[in-house]
Amino acid sequence: MKVIEHILQSKGTLVSFEILPPLKGKTINSIYDHLDPMMEFKPAFINVTYHRSETMFKKKLDGTFEKVEVRKRPGTVGICAAIMNHYRIDAVPHLICGGFGKRETEDALIDLHFLGIDNVLVLRGDAAKNESSFEPEPGGNQYAIDLLKQVANLNNGIYLEEDIKNGGKTNFCIGVAGYPEKHFEAPNLTTDMQWLKAKVDAGAEYVTTQMFFDNKKYFDFVKLCREHGINVPIVPGLKPITNKKQLSMLPKVFHVDVPAELCNEIVKCKNDEDVELVGTKWLIEQSLELKKAGVPVLHYYTLGKPKVICNVVREVV
Ligand code: FAD
Repeated sequence: MKVIEHILQSKGTLVSFEILPPLKGKTINSIYDHLDPMMEFKPAFINVTYHRSETMFKKKLDGTFEKVEVRKRPGTVGICAAIMNHYRIDAVPHLICGGFGKRETEDALIDLHFLGIDNVLVLRGDAAKNESSFEPEPGGNQYAIDLLKQVANLNNGIYLEEDIKNGGKTNFCIGVAGYPEKHFEAPNLTTDMQWLKAKVDAGAEYVTTQMFFDNKKYFDFVKLCREHGINVPIVPGLKPITNKKQLSMLPKVFHVDVPAELCNEIVKCKNDEDVELVGTKWLIEQSLELKKAGVPVLHYYTLGKPKVICNVVREVV
């Protein structure tokens, strides 16, 4: 079932989770071990992130270095199929522009369609580690909206091969990302909002937000979206803070603020177990307020912390 159908058919706030594929070398059981404890909350859907390959330099026997492409977390499509099969829960693979030509993207979409996966979250992806700014593959998609249009074309039976006439239509529900605190490359929030509106006009059926730790940022963002004519559901993305290092890492990597009140509480903590307690309490309060405000879904970034997420969701549902 599509994410948008889950949202439209639900009378209350749904719960969903996001997971990362495991590092290469682990088995599918590591995914089940991660997800099993969260199944008691009956998530409406589970997102699986996509990670592009990285260029690395491997030392050879003669002492020189060889440039190699390494994909540390492969398996997004396979994990989605496994989740659908094992738990009978809808899976939402993330699809990115970075590292993909349009033909590879088309083939990936055909695989997803054949597997009965009819949801995708389309994203641009970040710059590769060795690049200063995002560069698409030659002939690849530059922005999330370009990838979205490719998916929308396939939903209309339009393939890259021009000689395919009356091609079979896929049926993807397309979600996109939104940034309550602005995407870090956007010159201002209004311009960012215009590009978000363009994604919705091109066929995005809902928006999932970047994490935020101050609900006011989400409420202001939703208000601004509505003022810009963005009327699709806006799913809040939520993450617990569980260690002190995140106070500097989260702003640096995800370009989000940590409110002073939360920051002060965490600074006072003696160890990371105490930080986890503070982060859990904060996320419970955030979730309860969002639920009271009638958000469509509480979408949790579980990122290796299933126990913390369970402690939060148990207090909220
Ligand atoms: P876009 O919508 O393409 O926007 C990128 C920037 O360009 C923005 O500043 C925007 O304002 C601007 N812009 C947009 N369209 C245009 C246009 N047509 N012309 C000019 N400027 C434009 N990354 C991963 O690698 N894998 C994941 O699985 C993943 N999952 C994510 C899930 C969520 C919910 C979120 C919020 C982010 C996720 N990311 C993931 C990170 C994401 O790829 C980065 O934030 C990336 O920098 C931007 O992606 P986007 O889809 O928002 O890009």
